[in-house]
Amino acid sequence: MDRDTSAGCNINTIHAMTATIIDGKTIAARVRAELGEQVRAFTDRTGHSPGLATVLVGEDPASAVYVGAKQRACAEVGMTPFDERLPHTATIEQVAERLQALNDDPAVSAILLQLPVPAHLDGPGLTSLIDPHKDVDGLTPVNAGLLSLGQPGLRPCTPSGVMKLLASVDTQIEGAEAVVVGRSNLFGKPMAQLLLQANATVTVCHSRTRHLHEVCARADILIAAVGHPRLIQRNFVKPGAVVIDVGMNRLAPEQPNRSDVKGVPDPPVSSLVGDVDFAAVSEVASAITPVPGGVGPMTIAMLLHNTLLAARALAEPSHGMHAMGDPPR
Ligand code: NAP
Repeated sequence: MDRDTSAGCNINTIHAMTATIIDGKTIAARVRAELGEQVRAFTDRTGHSPGLATVLVGEDPASAVYVGAKQRACAEVGMTPFDERLPHTATIEQVAERLQALNDDPAVSAILLQLPVPAHLDGPGLTSLIDPHKDVDGLTPVNAGLLSLGQPGLRPCTPSGVMKLLASVDTQIEGAEAVVVGRSNLFGKPMAQLLLQANATVTVCHSRTRHLHEVCARADILIAAVGHPRLIQRNFVKPGAVVIDVGMNRLAPEQPNRSDVKGVPDPPVSSLVGDVDFAAVSEVASAITPVPGGVGPMTIAMLLHNTLLAARALAEPSHGMHAMGDPPR
């Protein structure tokens, strides 16, 4: 559909296109099926299955749901889940002690401290106590440093999952302009590093970035991880860009959850939405992830992938830290 053919490069005046929907659920299911086979082979070889320990401090319902999903996914691919829970009153020493016990337990190949931890605890400080060989989300200073140096190590799960999603639509990363909105240690910074390693030209935006929409509109690959419902509007997106929406925002019932596109029905109230205005951006992007069903399922798949990498490195010396590369593309 032509909107306006008068103005050369105004991004709102181009032919509308319908983006390919990047189906994270299906891609994650494929990764998990492949992992199931690899886990069986590992278990046959070594006599024990990879073990993933999740550590949940407190009773936050959303965190409990995430941990439950990780535990189930782990068991489904034949790994051994260890479900460690501490009350919200746990002291930093008690959590540290539990992490040390898991570091020392040979049945545990990988450890995930569910974040955020209660306010009186120090999430990054506690994460840094995890043995880097078992640091399944790649968040310890050792693994963050290895990533930043471009050396093998365990990579954070969500950015690794995004790399797989980009590969699934044959995105040309080398030489591309990639813009990451969000600079968290958990996602934005490692995402930028992975893209840089894949030879993209990377810009990282944050809350102080001026003219955000203009910076975003330069991107061939636009990745949003902000936590702000539908921040990324149609005019932020260069025609043909690949758009990855990492945001997960649960709208309260009183918040309007309306579609900004005429003719597209409003989603149900109280639903999960991303950082991207999906309906409007789908008209200009070449490919886009939905929320839910895009990045989220890949995070768990990559958690399992990393657990297997960690188990191999611990059980089979030839698979040491040096063998932990980026996920296969
Ligand atoms: P975070 O730690 O809160 O970081 C948010 C980032 O967004 C910060 O760098 C912040 O800038 C930036 N920001 C905030 N408002 C902005 C604005 N108006 N314009 C530009 N940048 C802005 O969040 P996070 O942990 O990275 O998570 C971000 C989102 O991704 C959340 O919705 C989270 O639920 C979701 N997430 C999903 C998964 C998954 O598996 N699907 C995994 C991780 C995260 P400053 O640094 O300047 O404050």
